[in-house]
Amino acid sequence: MSASLDAHLATRLQQRHASGRHRRRTVRELPERTLDFAGNDYLGLALDPRLHHALAEGARRYGAGATASALVGGQLEVHERLEAALAELLDRPRALLFSSGFQANLGVLGALAGRGDQTFHDRLNHASLLDGTRLSGARLERFLHADAGDLDARLTRAQATGARLVVSDAVFSMDGDIAPLAELARVSSAHGAWLVIDDAHGVGVLGSRGAGAASAAGLSLEQVPVLVGTLSKAFGVQGAFVAGSEGLIDSLVQFSRPYVYSTGLAPALANGALEALRIITTEPELRQRLGANIAHLHDAAQAAGLALAPSTTPIQPLPVGDERETMALAQALAQDGIRVGAIRPPTVPLGGSRLRITLSARHHADQIEHLVERIVHHRRALGLNPLTEKP
Ligand code: PMP
Repeated sequence: MSASLDAHLATRLQQRHASGRHRRRTVRELPERTLDFAGNDYLGLALDPRLHHALAEGARRYGAGATASALVGGQLEVHERLEAALAELLDRPRALLFSSGFQANLGVLGALAGRGDQTFHDRLNHASLLDGTRLSGARLERFLHADAGDLDARLTRAQATGARLVVSDAVFSMDGDIAPLAELARVSSAHGAWLVIDDAHGVGVLGSRGAGAASAAGLSLEQVPVLVGTLSKAFGVQGAFVAGSEGLIDSLVQFSRPYVYSTGLAPALANGALEALRIITTEPELRQRLGANIAHLHDAAQAAGLALAPSTTPIQPLPVGDERETMALAQALAQDGIRVGAIRPPTVPLGGSRLRITLSARHHADQIEHLVERIVHHRRALGLNPLTEKP
């Protein structure tokens, strides 16, 4: 007879504890009581009363939930309007809503790749892109981070059988750097591969209208035929979308299991996202304020001798190295009411633990200065190896 489930799980959990990597959830304080440098609400829209009103209005008009999958009656007029507005923003013929970015990535990879096909991933791609590929049964090969030359060599070496997909985050979620999209597009097209870009962290933030990294790099539908984005970051709500040709979207409706077999996006969220999109396209000052905050963090960190990793996006990693030191630093900041992400393996490579500081258009200069001052203070108080401090 097999051991009881609880005994089996207790052993695994003990191992997790012993590794020092047991993940703990903490209950977050209300927004007015925390200085939040851990969320992905880059434009501050999650706290914008206009969005709160739109969500309430969406629920009142259409109901609290979509009540069914899109194909079984869960698609409402508000979803249609949001899809059309997203397609217009991204300069693509059509867009399709999913309930989350994770689902969208599972759905895209599952619909476009299968056994006998090849996929080439940046090594630092998001977990959902990898999991989608694993579920699809396609071959998965990783190229060196942000290295189109290595991608080229791998595409040349691999025997061209089946479909070929090149897959990359646009803005890397734990590093904040931007993929060399134009080069990836050039190499992909030279090898007859389709480029799938996940711009979860770029849409709303990059480009003059907030159309994201592909638009900022001037890349069209032909160069980036599959574009994924989420509504959970700059849009301040939840949900996701894929944008591309008529054929792509109809194929997802036919073949994407996470789309077909999951309840549609809550109409309140769709109405909230429409309001977010209106703000994103009509209030460029939010992106300007965010840019000024990024510059201010760089200046303040430099003046204090803290070496941030190179990033021009709102994701600003501060390398620490050691896992326990990273956790201790984040906990000490939490005691001050400051929330930052503490990122450690397996999310990042061994020795790559870091504080992940994320900025928002809502932050003020003095809050950013306070963050830097508290990091410097706690590094000293904890007697941390001055890894990040300049000589
Ligand atoms: N892609 C990337 C690059 C991400 O960082 C994330 C979220 N961490 C996702 C996809 C998943 O998006 P969602 O949170 O909407 O599921």
